[in-house]
This record gives sequence, structure tokens and C-alpha cells, in this order.
Amino acid sequence: MIKLVAMDVDGTLTDKTRRISTKAIESIRKAESRGVTVSLLSGNVIPVVYSLKVFIGINGPVFGENGGIMFDNDNSIHTFFPGEKTNAFLAEMSKKTSMKPIFTNKWREASTGFDIDEKDVEFVRGEAEKRGLVIFNSGYSWHLMNKGEDKAFAVSVLMKKFGIGYDETLVVGDSENDLPMFELPVHRASPANCTDSIRRKSEYVSEFSYGDEIQDVFTHYGLI
Ligand code: CA
Repeated sequence: MIKLVAMDVDGTLTDKTRRISTKAIESIRKAESRGVTVSLLSGNVIPVVYSLKVFIGINGPVFGENGGIMFDNDNSIHTFFPGEKTNAFLAEMSKKTSMKPIFTNKWREASTGFDIDEKDVEFVRGEAEKRGLVIFNSGYSWHLMNKGEDKAFAVSVLMKKFGIGYDETLVVGDSENDLPMFELPVHRASPANCTDSIRRKSEYVSEFSYGDEIQDVFTHYGLI
């Protein structure tokens, strides 16, 4: 039986323009009323996931910065990784390449976001790896993270906090920054708009997209 659902936001609960599916909100509320703990795991910043938690009414802790930071139910914020290395690397590369900070960095504490020209991606990726950092594109933004700072880390924090096992956990996501949690021996579902790599790792791929799959996924797993 599924007791915990960890969900991505952009492209999983929203459409391409980032408008949230109202059907998804209804399904989340229904699952929560049946005792399921729901969490959001986003690449976005903590003020954004905090707002989603409050206004949707998410009952579990929520994570920003791809799992590097958590807003908990007791209003505490936990920063699991430092932001110093990522900030220093971005400052250095901004002088040498087209890598540039994005405006949401003012609210980032455990990573940085950036824009970059395609021609510089492989050089920056190599330099980042030399320093224990990782870059990836979520489909909505480029992210510079500390190694090990990802959604699999966040799911493990949730499982430990609530004493929930792999077989009682469902993850839902659509793109590359969701891959780490799709490597865990948990239940894994995705919308029809997911990337090929997520599709390959999924246990269940819905025929619905952009948030409208949540009702279908929750029904498939007996949550609603
Ligand atoms: Ca996504």
C-alpha cells in the first residue's frame, strides 16, 4: 500500500506554460483525505514550493532546489547542502563563458540556477565535475548542484522522517532532474509527456499529460 507520494511540479502538475492542473489539485486532496502523505519536489526555490504547499494544501514537507532544501510542517526550513561552492563556480564561469545567473538565485540557498549558450555546456559540465558539482537542465531551467543533491536524496529524507519503506513510496516525475528518484526501488509513475529516459525507468506511464495524469496514476495505485 502506498503511504507516501513524492511529486515533481513543472511538467508533472503543470502544462508547458506552468499553469497548474486543477484536476491534479483535486486528486491530491482526495488522496490526502485518505491518509496518504504528499510531498512536492521541485527545482524551484523554497518560497515557491512553500506557497504551493500553503495554497494547494499539501500535507507533507516540500522540497526546493531539486531536494537541497526542505520546508517542513512545523514551519522550519532545512538546508541540506551549502551554496558557497555553486555560487563561487557560477561567479568564476560568468567571467569566462556565457554562463549567467537567473533572477531566482536571490532565493537559492543550496544551489544556483543559470542560463548558458549550448556551445559552452560541455566545457562547464567538465569544470563542474572537477569540483564535485553537477549541472543539468530540468527542461525549465539549468541547475548547478552539489554532488548527491538531488530528488533521490529528498525521497530518502522523507522515508526516514515518516518511517516509510520503498514499497510504500510512489514517485511521479517527467524529466531529467527526476531520474535520481526513478533509480530508487520505489513505485515510479509518469505523465505521457515524460522524457524517453523517464519512460524507460517508469513502472506506469499514464496516457494523460501535464497534471491531468495524476487522477489516473492515483487510481492505478489505489490511492483514490
Ligand atoms: Ca519536471
